[in-house]
Amino acid sequence: MSLKEKDIFEALKTVDDPEIKKDLVTLGMVKAVKVQGTNVELTIQLTTPACPLKDKIRSDIESAIEKAAKNAGAPSPQVAIEFTAEVTKPNQRAAEGADPLPNVKHVIAVGAGKGGVGKSTVSSLLAIALAKSGARVGLLDGDIYGPSMPTMLGLDNLPPAAEGQQLIPFDVHGIKAITIGKLVPPDKALIWRGPMAHGAFRQLALQTDWGELDYLIVDLPPGTGDVPLTLAQLIPLTGAVVVCTPQKVAQDDARRAVRMFQQLGVTVLGMVENMSYFVGDDGKQYDLFGRGGTESLAASLNIPLLGTLPIHSKLRENCDLGTPLANWDDSPETGQHLDQMAQDLAGRISVLTHAGSLQQPTISVT
Ligand code: ADP
Repeated sequence: MSLKEKDIFEALKTVDDPEIKKDLVTLGMVKAVKVQGTNVELTIQLTTPACPLKDKIRSDIESAIEKAAKNAGAPSPQVAIEFTAEVTKPNQRAAEGADPLPNVKHVIAVGAGKGGVGKSTVSSLLAIALAKSGARVGLLDGDIYGPSMPTMLGLDNLPPAAEGQQLIPFDVHGIKAITIGKLVPPDKALIWRGPMAHGAFRQLALQTDWGELDYLIVDLPPGTGDVPLTLAQLIPLTGAVVVCTPQKVAQDDARRAVRMFQQLGVTVLGMVENMSYFVGDDGKQYDLFGRGGTESLAASLNIPLLGTLPIHSKLRENCDLGTPLANWDDSPETGQHLDQMAQDLAGRISVLTHAGSLQQPTISVT
């Protein structure tokens, strides 16, 4: 006698999503079960295509079904699992009547205490890494004082496009991107008074035709100025990521950036340590700036460290050339760091969304 579909469901009730810590059936992740003789076909819907624990879920399912077969004295089944993914929008946002970006599930700000730590680099590569996993991703270059995306994404020869009042984002490297750098002459000094900065950012964020997105990454200007305030006021954010380099001086400013988000009621999803170390031609790792500084800062602030990124000359080169996808080919190690960072971020967002514990600021500023 072989297993029936109801036996499979019972077995799946014993398998927890390792991060959300509830079983797959309760979470509604089991979308289809088909049993034909000893062949079992399952469709499991993950909470993000960048799920870091897909392999663990697969092996836990296989073990649970094997165990069920053994207990029932049934022959060992052949289990085929198809994974799909549906990113969930936080309840608070769905409940809010006036969501200005209803088709965007998660808006994630990327900030830094100071300039030059690699905030734009991390923003763009994180967006691309999420898209590589199969998510629909947008990138908003909110660094309206020093937009880097025209260069980093290689937009120089692409004309900006609009339809009526809506800006059409650039469809590049698997993501949708918009930047003020393509809407003003390249050598124009970008001097914004507070209200102008607010207006420019608001237009970029809300007058872009993003379509349906799972994640919108917003590259903020460095520091604690007008734009983060505008963003927190304008859009219910899922959370923020703070980029930092290992030196003490960078950490002091990063701590201020973390405090700023917390003061605005924005959940800090994690920190990223960029320029953690340098790998020489001899293959040795050199801790130029004292690796690990961000990890201790994150621990002291009780925030997860989402990942680290070493200094790599190819990474700088690909930034300058506007060929971000080449990072995965040029340095598999860099690619792994980026994929892992994206998975950790997506995993944390899923956990917080399902726990219903995302703070979503509704501040009003006059
Ligand atoms: P920020 O946005 O914080 O001002 P950027 O992302 O513009 O910083 O990065 C500043 C410069 O450092 C860029 O030229 C970028 O290519 C380079 N860079 C950033 N991170 C790395 C890295 N891990 N390895 C090599 N170069 C990097």
